[in-house]
Amino acid sequence: MITDIENLAAKDRQYLWHAMTPYNEQNPPMIIEEGKGSWIADASGNRYLDGMSALWCVNIGYGREELAKAAYDQLKKLSFGSMLQSHEPAIRLAEKLNEWLEGDYVVFFSNSGSDANEVAFKIARQYHEQNGEGNRYKIVSRYRAYHGNSMGALSATGQSQRKFKYEPLAAGFLHVPPPYGYRRPDGMSVEQFNLQCAKDLEQTIVWEGKETIAAVIMEPAITGGGVIVPHPVYMEEVERICRKHGVLLIIDEVICGFGRSGRKFGHMNFGIKPDIVTMAKGLTSAYLPLSATAVRKEIYEAFKGKDDYSHFRHVNTFGGNPASCAVALANLDIIEREGLVERSRVLGERLAESARGWLKHANVGDVRSFGFILGIELVADRRTKEPLPLAQVAKIISACKAKGLIIGKNGDTVDGFNNVLTIAPPLSSTDDDLAFIVSTLSEVLASM
Ligand code: PMP
Repeated sequence: MITDIENLAAKDRQYLWHAMTPYNEQNPPMIIEEGKGSWIADASGNRYLDGMSALWCVNIGYGREELAKAAYDQLKKLSFGSMLQSHEPAIRLAEKLNEWLEGDYVVFFSNSGSDANEVAFKIARQYHEQNGEGNRYKIVSRYRAYHGNSMGALSATGQSQRKFKYEPLAAGFLHVPPPYGYRRPDGMSVEQFNLQCAKDLEQTIVWEGKETIAAVIMEPAITGGGVIVPHPVYMEEVERICRKHGVLLIIDEVICGFGRSGRKFGHMNFGIKPDIVTMAKGLTSAYLPLSATAVRKEIYEAFKGKDDYSHFRHVNTFGGNPASCAVALANLDIIEREGLVERSRVLGERLAESARGWLKHANVGDVRSFGFILGIELVADRRTKEPLPLAQVAKIISACKAKGLIIGKNGDTVDGFNNVLTIAPPLSSTDDDLAFIVSTLSEVLASM
């Protein structure tokens, strides 16, 4: 246990630049010391159930010795090998991902979800260029979606509060509205509204000039942007529209992948076949950094030797790091052995059932779930659906934390869309963990 907490906290304030945190909220910093299962402990010994799996990523829970050993063994044997060469952990992992994807894919490894999406965009553009359609450079994504922090991935992101300080961003990125069923026009069914959103996407593609569109990128369900879950007809239509107009469909599985959605991958809930799948987070359960861009074999074929420039002209030093790949393999082994994809579905259904009971509270406007992800949309008035002000949302999150439960929320302070509580615990959570989450949220929501 850390004994000199005050000194450490002072050094934190002096030297460490925190992510996404207003300076006045960094004091005192939450210094985490250890984790086991779904629980973490801070330096003062306070225990919290991590209801967000950190950043939606510690899917098999904390403290798995098997993963530590996989990293140790691999680091001793071969500490580094780049993807200019090859090594066994990368080969075995690419094969394993192909099995998980249930299709014929070739895998490119990188470091982060943002990297994986950048790779997808570059592959999409180069693919069209090499197919004689060099005009196809635009990438279409959705408002509310998050696709990463780097200039391309941020350009695809549809959340103004993350972008406006850094503009101008990359050229050629367009956005369409998401199928946000809770806020659909009066008199329209959720299904009709979802079909309308798909039509709007097609209209955008046609009006922009379909011969200028390279790809559409979307998560199976928008996660961080407010847990916006599509009706199945939407995803079926999106796939059909992409095929019809020769546009590649990139599915961002950075959060939804590896069982989080109750299926191996989120898109499998809709029976669609993406051209490109990007993944990170749950690939290693965040024990080490690693991401992947899986590309349909036919697309990969277009990169085979027409001229000196037809191969993919992209490298990153750490992508496919041997220890990261070994850890990913051990992680996938645990998910398979412990049946965590199925467990995620079962836990998610149980959590969603409890959450429906919270609709009786005046400030709970909607509850939405996708596998073991829950979103609770808080409103000041259920009739007008006016969002609950941020200060009140923050109070609920603090009240949960005071009772030992960490949950998240969408959004930031600029666009007024900060009113969805998010919950995505480790898929390995026990029945007691789930009971604790439900009872804590029940108490806090009842006291609003
Ligand atoms: N895509 C999605 C859907 C994400 O949620 C995130 C990160 N939260 C990213 C991409 C970017 O991943 P990273 O932070 O690893 O770059």
